[in-house]
Amino acid sequence: METKIETNLELVQARIESHIDTLSTFTATPGKGTTRLTYSPEDLQARQYIKSKMEEYGLTVQEDGFGNIFGKLEGTLKGAPSVLIGSHFDSVPNGGSYDGPAGVVAGLEVAALFIENKLTPKYPLEVIALIEEEGSRFGGGLMGSRGIVGLLDEESFNRLKDKDGIYAVDAMKKIGLDPSLPKKRDPKTMKAYLELHIEQGPILEEKDIPIGVVEAIVGLTQLEVTVKGQAGHAGTTPMDRRADALVTAAKMIAQFPDLAETEGEGTVVTTGSLSVFPNGANVIPDRTVFSVDIRSGKEENVLNVIQKVKDLADSYSKQGIKVSVEQLLYIQPKEMNKDIVSLLKRKSSELGIPKCSINSGAGHDAMVFSDFTNVGMLFIPSKDGLSHCPEEWSDSRHIANAVQVLYEAAKKLTEAE
Ligand SMILES: [Zn+2]
Repeated sequence: METKIETNLELVQARIESHIDTLSTFTATPGKGTTRLTYSPEDLQARQYIKSKMEEYGLTVQEDGFGNIFGKLEGTLKGAPSVLIGSHFDSVPNGGSYDGPAGVVAGLEVAALFIENKLTPKYPLEVIALIEEEGSRFGGGLMGSRGIVGLLDEESFNRLKDKDGIYAVDAMKKIGLDPSLPKKRDPKTMKAYLELHIEQGPILEEKDIPIGVVEAIVGLTQLEVTVKGQAGHAGTTPMDRRADALVTAAKMIAQFPDLAETEGEGTVVTTGSLSVFPNGANVIPDRTVFSVDIRSGKEENVLNVIQKVKDLADSYSKQGIKVSVEQLLYIQPKEMNKDIVSLLKRKSSELGIPKCSINSGAGHDAMVFSDFTNVGMLFIPSKDGLSHCPEEWSDSRHIANAVQVLYEAAKKLTEAE
């Protein structure tokens, strides 16, 4: 049998551009990037656009009690779980046009291809557009996905306020949403979750590879290291009589890049915050407090680095210096579903689209869903690795490529014919 050409790539690409351009106009800061906070007037505009496209494409549109949007293409199996595909549609203040929307738009276009090619899926296909992934209005982040899987209960949601003291429920009602609609979704109603996202880093662009198949979303650890020494006069204390808390901190921090490199496999270690006390130009510091952010796709790497930082702390605790390490945050790395990862790779190869494995250094809704359903994620290149800024840009051709891969994967997962 001859292979039918099922996707008109140029047409899909043109529609993607038009969606992205339109969505980017729904911003509170025109000319200064996308600022689309959850339950804002711009949220409402984007929401209406996404819903109208879902309807135009023939999907059944529903919203839940958080304002997440679902566009469903029914399957032939009664009550069967859905293959979800989408991302979030909120933004950070003065962010870009692609972080979030690229994935929502990809979901829309996968559904459009199902319909244009008159596919009949056994399992439903659901395009989803999630709220408040960035946490820019209500903090915490990943709110839409956490809500769907039941990690954000009714009571906690009712208590949520933005920085101006406006309750989330009131903000919802203000744009015509109904917080009394069902919120949590039974994991049994989900067969898989697929998400396309921009990489937000330089790797794919540097390698000149259009598709990154995400293997894992990195775990995240934050340590707080406190070094205690002895204050003293900068002029009268001889060098060999000092217990300088800053010099010790500096020696430790200087070793972190090597430590990360030795661990390998993409492990990264960062100190981004350092406080010096008493912080006077003529006083030997008696205390420093600094952060250590450790990330890796493999939990083993993260645990090794934590241990090495602790060992380092012990080795510097001498001659009037005391170093202590406190763990403030620990999030396990989330591996993507192995079968979906290989499915996405296989489909990329079959389509002749170069791909590579990649880890996600940032958190995504896929991370939340991964504890409840089978999750797969694709990255496309970010120009200059930039994101969360107005310069954020990705090639619509890359989004169209990803749509093709996701379409083929979704066909398989929904058992469409
Ligand atoms: Zn995002």
